[in-house]
Amino acid sequence: MALEFSLTPKQQALRENLRGLAKHVIRPQSLSWDRGHGIPEQFLRTMATLNTSLTASAKRDEGPRESSGNFGMKNLDTLLVTEELAWGDAALPLCMPGPGLGGPPVRGSGTEEQKRRYLGIFEDMSESLKWGAYALTEPGAGSDVAGIRTSCRKEGASWVLSGRKCYITNGARASWNVVFATVDPSLGRAGHRAFVVERGTPGFSVGRIEEKMGLRASETAELVLEDCRVPEECLLGGEASYASREGFMTAMKTFDNTRPIVAAMAIGIGRAAFEYARGFVREHYALARHVPRYSAIAERLARVGRDLDAARLVTWRAGWLADQGVANAKEASMAKALGGQAAIRACIEAIEICGVEGTLQKDHQLLEKWFRDIKVYDIFEGTGQIQRIVIAKRMLTNLKSF
Ligand SMILES: Cc1cc2nc3c(=O)[nH]c(=O)nc-3n(C[C@H](O)[C@H](O)[C@H](O)COP(=O)(O)OP(=O)(O)OC[C@H]3O[C@@H](n4cnc5c(N)ncnc54)[C@H](O)[C@@H]3O)c2cc1C
Repeated sequence: MALEFSLTPKQQALRENLRGLAKHVIRPQSLSWDRGHGIPEQFLRTMATLNTSLTASAKRDEGPRESSGNFGMKNLDTLLVTEELAWGDAALPLCMPGPGLGGPPVRGSGTEEQKRRYLGIFEDMSESLKWGAYALTEPGAGSDVAGIRTSCRKEGASWVLSGRKCYITNGARASWNVVFATVDPSLGRAGHRAFVVERGTPGFSVGRIEEKMGLRASETAELVLEDCRVPEECLLGGEASYASREGFMTAMKTFDNTRPIVAAMAIGIGRAAFEYARGFVREHYALARHVPRYSAIAERLARVGRDLDAARLVTWRAGWLADQGVANAKEASMAKALGGQAAIRACIEAIEICGVEGTLQKDHQLLEKWFRDIKVYDIFEGTGQIQRIVIAKRMLTNLKSF
């Protein structure tokens, strides 16, 4: 495997195009989406069309591939696109029509029929926009994924699910949710099963839509399952695949695919804050290079820029490994842990460097918004602490892995 740091001309063009879209079209609307708690359907339609054309172009170049995000592209290309979209608006990548977080478990563990049925609906969104979602978290089972309590029991040719899921991105608007449940909590991970539950199934309902500090344009829903009966065909991968710990592995494999994407989103937001602060410093201190404060501030900016760059390289490595079909759990966790932390630091430093100006809410100055948006990037898809536990486990059990 050659070590290569440069982007291909096609990747550079992709990044430049997305950068233009983010700057001229997405960013100017970002604060109004945040205030209005959503992105207008018309704009999401435009994004769905863009997605279709990027997917078609990737298919032409490389043939059909199993990508992790909503874009049917290589993982690395998805990371490039995601960073730019998040630079434009932090919530937009989460709001994109498509299977979302629900895609990887269906692609990775679904039967051919399940893939056709559940992923096929996204091929044509000309009539209506569609989303998929991923429902793992419960009150009392966030980081402790093994502790889920939503129950599932087999009754004839059906499964009956009961429980509550919380904080589910796009859970209310989704055509289907991948819902994780347990046949017996005392079995721990071995008892887990994953189901695709379609909207409208009797016994499935949407609870509260959360009011959040940040990412306010993204929908975060509570889901309720009350004796929700689904046909046995909804069990992801079919019964035989659960002879081992497949249910839990389905949940975890999703994260190997999506943690680098979340890291790329964080880096996009962090970069936005860094660039704003850099512009502020250039404007305010350019004529005062002899002032000691300038060099102290320049040094802070240098640290922020360095850390974002390092996080990006680690994130690209995780996506690149996935594209090579190489296991990347440790690298995906490193990307997520580093990306979140570097971006949070970037947003905090940017506000401090700009002083009170950084705390004001203005259309052209989004530091306070990015500050609200970024914190959750160190929480969802596994908190920073959990990433470090994953990394340490891999390093301690596989001594050759570092
Ligand atoms: C905007 C948003 C969108 C989300 N989208 C989804 C979604 O689509 N699907 C979904 O299933 N979930 C989703 N979540 C839920 C998210 O994944 C969980 O919030 C996250 O896993 C953390 O769980 P928790 O909030 O219960 O925190 P807890 O697990 O209760 O953790 C609280 C604190 O304890 C620490 N901690 C916990 N265990 C350990 C340990 N063993 N060692 C050291 N420290 C520990 C954590 O790091 C954290 O600091 C979303 C959450 C948000 C806020």
